[in-house]
This record gives sequence, structure tokens and C-alpha cells, in this order.
Amino acid sequence: MLDSQTSLLSSVMPTYKRFPIEMKKGKGSYVWDADGTKYLDFTSGIATCNLGHVPDSVKEAVSEQLENLWHCSNLYHIPSQEKLAHLLTEKTCFDQVFFCNSGAEANEAAIKLARRYANKIKGIKDPTIVTFTHSFHGRTLGTLTATAQKKIQDGFSPLMPGFTYLPYNDLDALSYLAHNNHCAAVLLELVQGEGGVIPADQEWVNELHQICKDNDILFMVDEVQSGVGRTGTLYAYEQYGIEPDVLTSAKGLGSGFPIGAMLAKSAAAKGFEPGSHGSTFGGNPLATTAGVATLETFDKEDILSKSIENGNYLSEQLSELKDKYKKLIISVRGKGLLLGLETAIPAADVVTKMREHQVLILTAGEKVARILPPLTTNKEEIDTFIQTMDLVLSQL
Ligand SMILES: *Cc1c(COP(=O)(O)O)cnc(C)c1O
Repeated sequence: MLDSQTSLLSSVMPTYKRFPIEMKKGKGSYVWDADGTKYLDFTSGIATCNLGHVPDSVKEAVSEQLENLWHCSNLYHIPSQEKLAHLLTEKTCFDQVFFCNSGAEANEAAIKLARRYANKIKGIKDPTIVTFTHSFHGRTLGTLTATAQKKIQDGFSPLMPGFTYLPYNDLDALSYLAHNNHCAAVLLELVQGEGGVIPADQEWVNELHQICKDNDILFMVDEVQSGVGRTGTLYAYEQYGIEPDVLTSAKGLGSGFPIGAMLAKSAAAKGFEPGSHGSTFGGNPLATTAGVATLETFDKEDILSKSIENGNYLSEQLSELKDKYKKLIISVRGKGLLLGLETAIPAADVVTKMREHQVLILTAGEKVARILPPLTTNKEEIDTFIQTMDLVLSQL
């Protein structure tokens, strides 16, 4: 535990509300604090350590790369960057990849691509990008404007021009798109994460996708949280039977090493040519080596099957808890191992009590407890989690 003295002495800018734990070590589904207390980590560092903490395969690959080359800039070809782009395009419907360092940056790249496409290809000088209520796209000025949530935007005016918000999962609202000839793109999460673990309805996605196709509007999905196996497929769009024009990925892509990527179909990327976008660290040898090792581990260890099996088991167990605690749990929702418990009480109370029993979970808004285990978890760990949750709910 950090005592109050230690936190008073902190010189770190207080932009985060932090739990009173000092993290020292992680392995698999567990983390240890400075006192040696062991926690079952069902946050995965916010959907990032999808292979568990410090996975051997990624550790070995990055260690080897550390011996050879850390950084060389994008003035040269980088073999691990080429390889990761090849793997990503081979495993998805996309043709090209732009690398950056975070989810917000990947979304910035998508926003720039959409504007460039509108400006240069469609000849629209004042394009708008449509995003949706309860979304979360990041904290840069562009992406916080894209994020249709007042609490994220508070105090940062003037916001960026060129965004329009529509209600999520609302079929009627889509007529806006068909009747607006300034629309360059839509940007959406197929399973909203921070906004409350809300999956998009299939019918709504079909309709939105069709309108985009008919009107040459780019269909862009933010899979920063839902990607890299989190929902049971490598990316969630595969389960909707549609092909987006652009996809953004980050969090789990480097197993904890910072990396972001924007994937696009060639037609959507037509406006991007040498000089139109860049990043010093984007696609850096260490980061892309972590990415390659992550995706290769997915194949070698059949991580997607584990993710599906664990997701089915966990959601069954959570549904049983919901039946047992009808007054406390309103619904269980999500996909794969991106799960939310909608609670009648503040979700933070559940999170705090779970932590007191050495199990880590998150909130997603005030009334949703978010559960994001490593995809590599197992029945035994899920049982421990459920038993702890049962105990905690019985005391609330
Ligand atoms: C976390 C997240 C982001 C922002 O990613 P950063 O790496 O924090 O910039 C964007 N979109 C979604 C859906 C996210 O969950």
C-alpha cells in the first residue's frame, strides 16, 4: 500500500485517479504489488496484456531485438514493420497499414485519412466525420472531439470542427447520412468499451454499412479495445459479416509494448502519399517486433480458441450470478472477453470490494463493472474470480 505521505510527495501530474497499489511485477494473469501481495488481474492493463503479463514468446523476441537495433526512423525500411504489416493484412480484409504508437494516434491517422480522402478524392472542402454517443476514441484534441462524451471534452474548447454526433444503435438517426453530402466517414466502436460495454446491433451495423457504401462514405471502426482477439475473433468486425474501409488497433497489439496501427483498404488510402502523414517512433523496430511476436503467438498457441472458450465459460458463470443477485445485477453484456456487468449500485463499489479480495476489474461508466481477463486465462482462474464476485455481491 502507498501511504498518504508517498502520494503527497509524487511529482507526477495528477491527471489520473489511482488505486492505492504500487505495481512491481506481472506474470500470466497475476500482478504483484510492492508488498508482495498477489492479485488476479482481470483488467489486463485495460485490454492490453491479452496474452497475460510478460508472455515468454514476446519477451524473447523483444530481448533479441534489444541486442540489435532500437530505432532507425522511417527513412529506411524496417523488416519487423514490413512483417507486421504483412501479417495484419494477411489476417484481415485490409491492404495497407500505417504504424503509430497509441490508440488515439491510430484514430488521428484515420481522421486525417478520411479528410484527405474527402479533400483530394471527393472534392469536399469542409467534410464532416460522424461519430456516436457513448463512444471513446482517445484524448488528443481530434480524438476527444470525436469522442461524443461531455466529460471527456469539458474545458478543452474550442473543439475541432468537422464532427457530427449521432445516437448509437439508432436506426432512424441514420437517415442523416443519406441526406448529407459533406460526410467523409463514420467512425465507430463495434463494441463500445469505456462508454459502458455496449455491442452494436447487427441490423444497425448492416444498415449503416449499406448507407456508407451507397454514398461513398468511409466506414471506419475503432478496434483499439475490441481488437487483437478480445471478442473471440482477431477483430470484432469479422463477427458482423461486413468489411470496413479502415480499422484502428492498438492496446493488445504489442502485448503491453506501446504500438498503434491504422489498417485500410487501398481505395480508402488513395489520398495518402509520401509526406502526407508520419511519426518518429511509429513502427519502431522494438514495437513492431513485439507486434509480430504477439500475432505469431496467436497462431502457435491457438489463442482465439482459448479466448472463445474462456469467454463462453465466463459469461455463463456471470449469467448465473445475475440470476442469484437479481437486485444488484441488471444485465451481463459484451462479446468474448470484453464483458460488462450492469449494476444497480455504483460499479466502483464492486471494483473496490473485489480489489480488497485481490481481484482487479474496472468500471465503464458509473453503473457498469468491466471485466477484461487475459485471453490466456483458464477455468480455474475464472472460478476463483466468480467465487470472489459471489462473496463480494453477497456483502453489498
Ligand atoms: C483506449 C482506447 C483509445 C485510446 O487509446 P490510447 O492508446 O489510450 O490513446 C481509443 N479508442 C478506444 C476504443 C479505446 O478503448
